[in-house]
Amino acid sequence: ATHSECCFYDPSMRTMVAVQGEREQTLLEALWRDEFTLHYQPIVCAADEAVSGFEALLRWQNPTRGLIPPSEFIPLAEETGLIVALGEWALRAACREAVSWPDDLRVAVNVSAVQFQQPGLEQAVLGALLTSGLAPHRLELEITESVLMRDSEAVIACLHRLKALGVRIALDDFGTGFSSLSYLRRFPFDKIKIDRTFIRDITDPDTASIVRAIVGIGSRRGAIITAEGVETQDQSEKVQQEGCTEMQGFLYSKPVTASDALSFIRTHRSRHAA
Ligand code: C2E
Ligand code: MG
Ligand code: MG
Ligand code: MG
Repeated sequence: ATHSECCFYDPSMRTMVAVQGEREQTLLEALWRDEFTLHYQPIVCAADEAVSGFEALLRWQNPTRGLIPPSEFIPLAEETGLIVALGEWALRAACREAVSWPDDLRVAVNVSAVQFQQPGLEQAVLGALLTSGLAPHRLELEITESVLMRDSEAVIACLHRLKALGVRIALDDFGTGFSSLSYLRRFPFDKIKIDRTFIRDITDPDTASIVRAIVGIGSRRGAIITAEGVETQDQSEKVQQEGCTEMQGFLYSKPVTASDALSFIRTHRSRHAA
């Protein structure tokens, strides 16, 4: 249906709004009941496969439905604006948990484009750092190209202010958006995460040459290049050949609970020390 055909008195639409309101209410209650949790996925250095940090990934621990992945609640949280509160909760929880890790390990937190439209992001980041005591350089904020597509001048100014706090900025899922390469010139990202669709197809020569080009541009700008979604030894070898500096994927570990992340650090460290 075109926009002009849209009718405010369409009963099916009213049902949709009602259902959305109900689901929004459920998400809000989940936040009050403390049902959200973070899982952590290790990121390893390509050179020696030593763990360099973890990405924090939201999960909803629902009493009846079990563990619910972000794809099932982040879109609604973004539509309703609840992502702002949820995102701030994730920032605080990730900083609080990361402060107990060895201090050379970083934590990466995903920041929604919606959070960038709000004026409070810088304050939320500063607040999470101050209350946890986490050193700013240990916090990395992951943003996607969709953030940059909005009001780019304002967003770039905001990114610069965040960087001035000492935190690092990573461009997530790189290669899936539009006019990607120009973004690399316009903002000095500390890290570029190449989307896992490129890693999946890395044995294809055309895909490999795209990865090589991203690595070339990114590393010339001093950015760390992370390959996302590394699932096989073949992919791992290939992304290293193409010059990626970090790897993340099921080959190393799936996202795990905070306490399993601590065990992962312990066993991983002793293996590397040996
Ligand atoms: P992302 O930031 O790109 O996170 C990586 C996703 O890829 C995670 O899915 C992770 O489990 C998955 N992954 C990692 N390694 C592999 C692999 O080897 N193979 C495959 N097939 N998948 C792999 P997850 O946890 O379901 O998160 C999905 C997305 O939800 C994230 O993508 C991110 O965009 C969003 N998200 C998660 N947590 C947050 C959050 O706290 N705030 C916001 N705004 N978004 C979040
Ligand atoms: Mg991410
Ligand atoms: Mg990603
Ligand atoms: Mg993604």
